[in-house]
Amino acid sequence: RLVDQKDMKDVGADWKKGEPVPYAALCKTFEAIDSTTKRLEIQEYLTSFFEHVIELSPENLLEILYLCLNRVCPEYENVELGIGESLLIKAIAEVTGRTPQKVKDELARVGDLGKVAKDSKNSQKSISSMFGNRDKLLTVPKVFNSMKKIAFLSGHSSQDLKVKEIQNLLISCRGEEPKFLIRSLEGKLRIGLAEQTVLICLAQAFVVTDNEYKKLPKAKKAEELTEAPKIIKSVYSELPSYDLIVPALLKDGVRNLREHCRLTPGIPLKPMLAHPTKSITEVLDRVEGHKFTCEFKYDGERGQVHKLEDGTTKIFSRNLEDNTVKFPDVIEKISKAAKPNIDSYVLDCEVVAWDLEKHNLLPFQVLSTRKRKDVKEAEIKVSVCLFAFDLLYLNGESLLKRSLEERRKLMYDSFQKIEDEFFFVQSMNATNTEEIQAFLDESVKANCEGLMIKILDGLESSYEPSKRSRNWLKLKKDYLGGVGDTLDLVVVGAFYGRGKRTKVYGAFLLACYDPENEEYQTICKIGTGFSDSDLETHFNYLKEKEMSEPRSYINYDKATKPDVWFEPCQVWEVKAADLSISPIYKAAVGRVDTSKGISLRFPRFNKIRDDKKPEEATTSEQVAELFQNQYNNNE
Ligand code: ATP
Repeated sequence: RLVDQKDMKDVGADWKKGEPVPYAALCKTFEAIDSTTKRLEIQEYLTSFFEHVIELSPENLLEILYLCLNRVCPEYENVELGIGESLLIKAIAEVTGRTPQKVKDELARVGDLGKVAKDSKNSQKSISSMFGNRDKLLTVPKVFNSMKKIAFLSGHSSQDLKVKEIQNLLISCRGEEPKFLIRSLEGKLRIGLAEQTVLICLAQAFVVTDNEYKKLPKAKKAEELTEAPKIIKSVYSELPSYDLIVPALLKDGVRNLREHCRLTPGIPLKPMLAHPTKSITEVLDRVEGHKFTCEFKYDGERGQVHKLEDGTTKIFSRNLEDNTVKFPDVIEKISKAAKPNIDSYVLDCEVVAWDLEKHNLLPFQVLSTRKRKDVKEAEIKVSVCLFAFDLLYLNGESLLKRSLEERRKLMYDSFQKIEDEFFFVQSMNATNTEEIQAFLDESVKANCEGLMIKILDGLESSYEPSKRSRNWLKLKKDYLGGVGDTLDLVVVGAFYGRGKRTKVYGAFLLACYDPENEEYQTICKIGTGFSDSDLETHFNYLKEKEMSEPRSYINYDKATKPDVWFEPCQVWEVKAADLSISPIYKAAVGRVDTSKGISLRFPRFNKIRDDKKPEEATTSEQVAELFQNQYNNNE
C-alpha cells in the first residue's frame, strides 16, 4: 500500500480512523501518480489510497474525488476553479516575502507555478519554522472548503478575499503540498489522471473493501473487479453527480448502485455522440443487416430538455450547462408541445435559429448572436425553433435501454408539432445509396449540415450516454470524400497581424487535447476564414488571456512559437482539406508516428464553439483516427 500510517508519520501527520484525511496523504498519492506514466501503476496508487479513505475516513471521500478531478461541485453546475495567474503570483509573493516580479521571473524559468510555489516556500526558513504545529497541518476538508469558497467568491472585493484565502492555505503548506495546491487552484493538476481512471479506481476500491468480496474464489474476484468499473462508468454517464453517487456507494456498494442512481430529470446526462463518416458506402457498410433511419442534421445547438415532476422545465447544453435562463422562449414552446398527460420527461433536441417570416432555418451564426445571460423574453431578437430527435425519459421511467424505434414512437405520441416553434426532426427510413443521396441533397437545401444515420432496432439502438457511438453516424455534406468532419480546436497562441491586420492578431496557433497526458498538442497555424469583425472579436477576447510564457501543458515545437501565448480558454470549429504527418506539430504524437505529430492542411475558421470547454476539444485519438480514415473508403 502506498500511503500507510508510517508514511504519514514521515510527513508529520497521523491519519487515524475517523479523523479528516491529511492533505499530505492526498499529495503523496498525487506525487506517486505523477512519477509514472504507466496506467496500471497509476490505478494501483489511486485505488490503494481510495481503500484507505473508505476504511479510515469515508466522510471525506467526496471531497477527495473532487480534488482528484479539480472540481468543487458537479460538472453540470459549471463552476470553474481556474484562478488567474496574476492572483496566484500575488499570493505566492506575499507569503514568501518576494516581489511579484521575482515570482514571475522564476515562472518564466521553471514553467510551472506549482513548482515555483513549492521551491520558494521550502526556501523560506522563517515560515517553515511554523510547521510541525499539528493544528496548522492541512486537511482535505480544509483545502476543499477553501477552494469551494474561492470558486464561489464574486463581487468587487472578491479578488482580495481570494488572495487572503490562498495565502492562508499556502502558509499551512509543507513539502509537496504547495505544488499541488497551486496547480489545483490554476484548475490543472497535470498528473495524468483522467476521469475514467478515477472511476475505475473508485469502483475497485469499493469492491476490495467489501467483506463479501474477501470470501470469494479467485476467478469470481477477478470478475467483480472487471464488472464494477463498468457499472460505475455507466451510472456516472446517466447521472454525472458524485454528490449522489458517493453516498449511495458508501451505503450499499457498487453492485446495488443502479438501484439508487439512475437518470433523473433535473440532472443532465452526458449526451450520446455521433461517429464521423465520409461516404454513403461507409454508412451502408456499417448499418448493413439493421433497420436504420436518416435524419436531417440541423445546425444549431443541442438542447436537452428536462421536465421535472414538480412542474419545472430546464434546458441543458451539450456540455451539461444549465441554459434555462438563456432560452426562456424555448421553455414556453416546449410546454405547449408536450401533451397534457405528460408529467416528466427528458427530450433530446436541437435548438435552431428560425426565420418567422419565411418559415425556414437560419444558419448557426445567427443563433450565436443571442445573448447568453439575463435574457428577457421581450428583448429576444433571434427566434428559435426546436427540433426533437429522441426521448430518454417519460413519466417516471428511463427509456435509455429501449430501441430507438420505441423511443421515437413514444416521442411522437407524447408531443405535438407546433408550426414555427416545435418540430420532430425530418427523417426518412432510406434503404439504398440513391435514396440517401437524395435525402442528403434535400437536407443541404434546407440549410442543414447533412444527415445523421441511426440504427433503429435491437440492442444496438439503445441510447448510449457519453459514447461516440457507431450506431449514430454523421454525414456532413462538405466532408464527403475528405476529412469526414470538422475539428474543434483550442486557440493557444497568436501571431501579430501585418498589413491591414496590424491592430489585431493576424493568425493563431491551434491545438487538440490529449486527455491521457493532460496536454494541448499543437496542430496548425490558422489565418483563413476570419472576417474583419471575427478578428476584432478574437482580439478583444483573447488579449485578456495573453501570457508571456506557455503553460507547461502545451506541447509545441520551437519552430511554431507564436508571438503571444494564451491561457487555453476557447474552442474553435475548423475545417481542413486534409491531415498530414508533420515534423513540427505535435497533435497525436506517438500515435501514428513515434516522434512526429499530425497537422491540418489548409485550415479554415468556421465558428466559435461556446458549448465546448477546452478539455472537450477534439482529442489526439480522434485526430489520429481522422488521419487514418483518410485512406479508407475514399470515393
Ligand atoms: P460531437 O458532438 O460529435 O463532439 P460536434 O459537437 O462538432 O461533435 P457535430 O459533429 O456537429 O457536433 O454533430 C453532433 C451534433 O449534431 C449533436 O450534438 C446535435 O447537437 C446536432 N444534431 C443536429 N441534428 C441532429 C439529429 N437529427 N440527431 C442528433 N443530433 C443532431
